[in-house]
Amino acid sequence: MIPDNGKRSSREQALDELRSADKLIVVTHENPDGDALGSLAAMRDILVSLGKDSPAFIDARELPLPQEYQFLPLDDVLTAPPPDLEERTVVFLDCGSLERNAAEAFRHPGMHILNIDHHHDNTRFGTVNLVDPSASCTAEVVWDLMHGLGVEPTPEIAEALYVGLITDTGRFMYENTGPRAHLMAAELIEAGVDVQGIYRRVYEGVPYGKLALLARGLTKTRRYDKGRLTVTELDACDFAESGAEESYSEGVVDHLRSVEGTAVAALIRDRITAADGERKVSLRASDDRVDVSRIARAQGGGGHRQAAGFTTTMQWDELVEFLRHAVAQQLQ
Ligand code: AMP
Ligand code: MN
Ligand code: MN
Repeated sequence: MIPDNGKRSSREQALDELRSADKLIVVTHENPDGDALGSLAAMRDILVSLGKDSPAFIDARELPLPQEYQFLPLDDVLTAPPPDLEERTVVFLDCGSLERNAAEAFRHPGMHILNIDHHHDNTRFGTVNLVDPSASCTAEVVWDLMHGLGVEPTPEIAEALYVGLITDTGRFMYENTGPRAHLMAAELIEAGVDVQGIYRRVYEGVPYGKLALLARGLTKTRRYDKGRLTVTELDACDFAESGAEESYSEGVVDHLRSVEGTAVAALIRDRITAADGERKVSLRASDDRVDVSRIARAQGGGGHRQAAGFTTTMQWDELVEFLRHAVAQQLQ
């Protein structure tokens, strides 16, 4: 990771943590995406290759994983915290705050935490924090640490990191895509990534229920304020009638963002597995003046300038009014 003394020293601290610990556990955020799971599998393999006792953890409530990520080598993850958790360094990946990992066990005071992330609003909850908002994805930070640790990527490590890279950069199209993202891709391909094989696994083989859910989302789209705000909603009924799982809604909001005149796109969806009445809001900005992470933070969520989210119990009318107002404020 490049220059800036503060950043260099947190990188060195993170490397010291990884080198010196013998027992670790690698964790990520709830509703894990490609960057979360790719970084998790890669970091676990990197540490295991150094002879560490270092399992990955995914809470049982997150399983099964979204179909597109099931090929990642994560079959042997722990689904409950191990009894010796307090003896382990907990390596958080891609997780902006402690609350974004649903497992209570990791929130005990005194826990030794290494927090590795790229969210600019990361709450720096770790004992050591390596947060690099200039990195396109957490996988890019893990890739850099891999070099620092002197580990050569196996094809499995390379593919896991590549999944994080392509999903968080929107296949090298979002504004977080810089030269490093492409350099990383080139190196990973040399290390054995099957580019088309990964494309097929992550983006094809879409379950029919996902297409049916998208169709409903597109049909229910509403536009406000001359289209500046484009919103849709998926309720429990839409999920049930499409035969869709919760994770199938991922990507719906990106269709809305691409519509001419849209500054902010929002998907409001019922959370099937969470508390009654709880809804998840995904925000995307397609106007550089707008920072959607600010809007999400005002509701207890967070994220990046162009992609952020929060959970709420507000219903449609109130939520749309809140969003219209928040967008108008930033476009003044
Ligand atoms: P999503 O809309 O779920 O694809 O999330 C977009 C971005 O917002 C990701 O970078 C997430 O890390 C972040 N994000 C989503 N939901 C939350 C939340 N409840 N709290 C903090 N960050 C979130
Ligand atoms: Mn993520
Ligand atoms: Mn990420």
